[in-house]
Amino acid sequence: MKLQDKVAVVTGAASGMGKAIAELYAKEGAKVIVADLNIEGAEQVAECIKGEGGTAKAVKVNVAKLEDIEAMIDTAVSEYGTLDILVNNAGIMDAFEPVGDITDEKWDLIFDINTKGVMRATRKALPIFLEKGKGVIVNTASTGGLNGAHAGAAYGASKHAVVGLTKNTGFMYAKEGIRCNAIAPGGVATNIGSALKNINQFGASRTQLAQAVMPRTGTSEEIAQVALFLASDESSFVNGTVITADAGWTAAF
Ligand code: NAD
Repeated sequence: MKLQDKVAVVTGAASGMGKAIAELYAKEGAKVIVADLNIEGAEQVAECIKGEGGTAKAVKVNVAKLEDIEAMIDTAVSEYGTLDILVNNAGIMDAFEPVGDITDEKWDLIFDINTKGVMRATRKALPIFLEKGKGVIVNTASTGGLNGAHAGAAYGASKHAVVGLTKNTGFMYAKEGIRCNAIAPGGVATNIGSALKNINQFGASRTQLAQAVMPRTGTSEEIAQVALFLASDESSFVNGTVITADAGWTAAF
């Protein structure tokens, strides 16, 4: 029980890595706000957690909307009395275009969800953490936030920005007892990218591409274990950094 009685908000928790993180945190004793745009999916995850004896509540959130983010954090406090852990995991890929082909609309959509959503949720959570003198933020970045080798201009730039925000937040609030770290997953088999029918500009499916360049694809459960480490006191001296979880792919760069 590494997160006994902690209160956690996990965004993008209806599917993929966010779902695995919410489920693992609940198993480790946390009370979890299962936040997602897909409320039916979030409710299923929350019901599943409760069915196994855990504590969870589904909340509908569009992380691109300020009022949704504020309501999400407020719900954690009104339901469970406080907030200890914020996992900014919701994200979309939806763009493999290089910069020459990207539209302003697509750029703004990706940044509003992948980057601005992280900033706004962090900003809303900070006063709670500052008052307690303790708090943990875990951001899901990407190996696309560490190199330029895949996933398009807007996605890669949005995740590089998450890495930068993670470092700055970790540095700025370290003395206040707040830690902020990011995970940079490599290719993980989830629902992301389905809007592109899983085809990128090279004409290969994401799975084929991942298999060609990566040692193997990962599972959401493997990423959740990293998110557990970063949320627990076991990582008490880890702050303002990025942990890659990609079977060694980034080591090639
Ligand atoms: P996923 O599609 O399975 O899950 C993403 C979840 O986010 C979905 O439940 C979706 O409904 C939710 N979501 C999307 N837009 C939202 C919004 N505006 N507001 C609230 N919720 C929203 O994908 P995943 O792979 O589990 O993605 C989780 C995170 O991991 C993302 O930030 C993604 O960029 C990142 N990531 C994924 C991979 C990968 O290979 N799967 C690799 C690196 C990083």
